[in-house]
Formats: sequence, structure tokens, C-alpha cells
Amino acid sequence: MTEQVDVAVIGGGIVGAACTFRLAEAGRSVTVLEREQSPAMGSTGLSAAGVRVQFVEPVNVALSLASIRQYARFPELYGTDSGYRPVGYLFLVPDEAWDAHLAGVEVQRNLDAPIEVLDIDEALARFLPFDPAGLAGATFGPIDGIVDPNSVTTTYLGLARDHGATVRLRSGVTGIAPHAGGWELAIGDDRLRAGAVVNAAGCWAGEVGRLAGIDTPVTPARRMIFLTGPRQDRPTTPLTVDAASGLYYRSEGERLLFGRSNPDEEPGFATGIDWDWLEPTMEAAMARFPWFADEELDQRASWYGYYEMTPDHNAILGAASGSPTWIHASGFSGHGVQHAAAVGEVVRDELLHGRSRSIDIDPLRDDRFADGHHRSERHII
Ligand SMILES: Cc1cc2nc3c(=O)[nH]c(=O)nc-3n(C[C@H](O)[C@H](O)[C@H](O)COP(=O)(O)OP(=O)(O)OC[C@H]3O[C@@H](n4cnc5c(N)ncnc54)[C@H](O)[C@@H]3O)c2cc1C
Repeated sequence: MTEQVDVAVIGGGIVGAACTFRLAEAGRSVTVLEREQSPAMGSTGLSAAGVRVQFVEPVNVALSLASIRQYARFPELYGTDSGYRPVGYLFLVPDEAWDAHLAGVEVQRNLDAPIEVLDIDEALARFLPFDPAGLAGATFGPIDGIVDPNSVTTTYLGLARDHGATVRLRSGVTGIAPHAGGWELAIGDDRLRAGAVVNAAGCWAGEVGRLAGIDTPVTPARRMIFLTGPRQDRPTTPLTVDAASGLYYRSEGERLLFGRSNPDEEPGFATGIDWDWLEPTMEAAMARFPWFADEELDQRASWYGYYEMTPDHNAILGAASGSPTWIHASGFSGHGVQHAAAVGEVVRDELLHGRSRSIDIDPLRDDRFADGHHRSERHII
């Protein structure tokens, strides 16, 4: 007989894990289906692991703030370490972007997110040296920082199991058809029926949506992370963003981790590290942080992964238009780690109560693309 569950979650990354936990905790029978042999092998395990409240769109600030607060309480709530370390995010902002950046600060402060606005001298006194040419000021988020996305995923899946959820690995979904108001999923020759489906398939969410005939405008975009060699005297640094070039770096133990989005990269599953992008990245790094010239690259420690982009760089969340038993939880456009904890709760409420009770996710619903009412998130890195 075909197995039947209340909810099938497609994707065992940090987002799928958070959704599975919250739904199982609420008493729903849940199966999470993950194609790989382990959880967190998609973007979750390949991210820069940053968490920050420094967004412009209020819904993104709210999702990050709620998630950061939860990650900070993992030891007390679940007896595990989420890896949350409030090393901060420092944005160095050029003159032409300063007014818009300060408008973002207002949004963040209105939502009680702590942000410090610094003049250039203050920033130079507190952080590693930078060339102030063309900069108007800086902002520092003292609760921003990093987490360990693998640990968070593992914790959520462990908790989900404790509440009776099933975690199926090596279980790629290959077909999806409507069934009795819900869905029947094909996992190869196997079948699973679910009253509802959560699409948490990361940069593959567009493909998964297509299997079900649900339009899901999510496309993959390759992103590189470069690593320097280790240095024992390396100080812990905030994730520092040169907003003029998009170059960012932070300390990763004794190394520096750094990167820069290539705006000309075509969407798609391009494979391998694009070493041609190293030079423009290093040029931007050395222009703003001249001491970068003394750093050595460790090619073998560097890696790449995929952002899951939407047209406006905001997630697609909530029930699909016209299909209330299909829940989108994708399209985080490079911010899924820092939104995941809150997304688990939002998705649970959406399925149990018909709408999110904590954060208003209406700006992230899929109908925004049809009616043209979407606003782009400007703080993407
Ligand atoms: C280089 C890089 C840096 C990043 N830095 C940050 C950062 O600093 N902060 C931040 O918040 N975010 C960051 N991100 C983005 C972040 O990694 C993602 O937003 C987040 O991991 C998304 O989680 P997810 O669970 O939705 O997706 P994923 O982790 O990709 O999980 C989706 C899962 O679905 C599975 N799957 C796909 N198709 C199927 C199928 N048909 N059947 C079954 N399973 C399927 C995949 O195997 C995968 O495990 C970064 C990403 C990259 C690549």
C-alpha cells in the first residue's frame, strides 16, 4: 500500500530541516525527502554561514532577526550549539549609496534590530585597515555574525525525528502528481502520498516546481568562496563588506574567507570554481584593503556553490496561488541560512492556520510576480 503522510518536505537542507521540525513538533506526520546521501549537501553546506539583520526589506530583517534570536538560544532550547558567533557584519558604504543605506538602518531599527552607524574614523579605529576613498560611512550589526549551517540542520532533523518525522536520504523526487487534494510523489519506483508538499529544494526548487506544474521562478547562480592560507596571528574579524565593489571577507579560524558576486555570471548550474573571477575579486580586495596583497590564496581550500535566485532577490514563501496544499519555501537568493529558523515557523503556521502568525510574509508570496508588485532587496552580497 502506498504510504501516506500529512506533509512531504522536499529537500534536506537547513530550510527543509527547519520546516520538518516545526511541522513534526506540531503533531503532523512528516517525511523529508533528500536526494543526497546526507543532509545539508546542497547550498547549506557550501555557504559563507553569515547571519545579519542588515537588509532593506522589512520582511527580510524580520526573518533574520527571529532566526538569529533562535540560533543564539540553541544551547538553552535544544542542548546543541548552532555555531552562532556574533562577530558582526561591517558594511563600508560609498557616498552615492549612503542615503539609501541609512534608509535601511531606519527599517532595521524600527524592527528593534540593533545597528551602529559609524563615521569613517570610528570604523578605522575599531576594525582592520581599509582605504576610505569614496566612503561616506559604515554600519555595524553587533548581533550579526555566523552560524554552523550543518549543525543547525542536524539539530533540526534530530528534533524532527524525536517528534516522529521520517528522514529519507537517497530519495530524489522524480515525479509529482495531484492526488485527492494533495499530492502523490514518485521517488523512483516508490510512491508517497502527502496531504501537502513543502518545496524546500533550494536552487533546484524551480525543477521541483516544474514536476508538479507549479511555477517557481528560482534559478541557480554560481558563487565562489576563496580562502587564504592560515596565519596564527589572525584576529577574528566581522564579515566586512565593501558595498562599493561587493567584495566581502571575514575570518575563518586562522584563514580569511572572501568572495564577490560576478554580476555577469549567467544563471545555471555552471560547475567548478571560475578561476577567471579570482583576479577581479583580488583587485577589489586590494583596492579597499591594501594588506590583502600580503595574503596567500589556498586554492584547494576554496569552493563554490549555488545561490537560489528569484527575479527580485527575495524568497518565495507560502501557499502557491491556486494550490493551497503546495507550500513554497525557496528562492532565498543567498540568504537561506539566516532566514531558515523563522521560515520553519512560518511554513508550519501557513499549513496549520492558513497564514503565518509571526511574520507577515505577504510580500514574499508568489503572486507578486504576476501582479508586478515586487520590490527588490538591495542588500544582497
Ligand atoms: C557560496 C555561497 C555563500 C552563501 N552564503 C550565505 C550566507 O552567508 N548566509 C546565508 O544566509 N546564506 C548564504 N548562502 C545561501 C544559503 O546557502 C542558501 O540560501 C541556503 O542554504 C538554502 O537552504 P535550502 O535548505 O533551501 O537549500 P539547500 O541547502 O540547497 O537544500 C536543498 C536540498 O534539496 C535537495 N533536492 C533537490 N532536488 C531534490 C529532489 N528532486 N528530491 C529530493 N531532494 C532534492 C538537494 O539535494 C538539497 O540538499 C550562500 C550560498 C552559497 C552558495
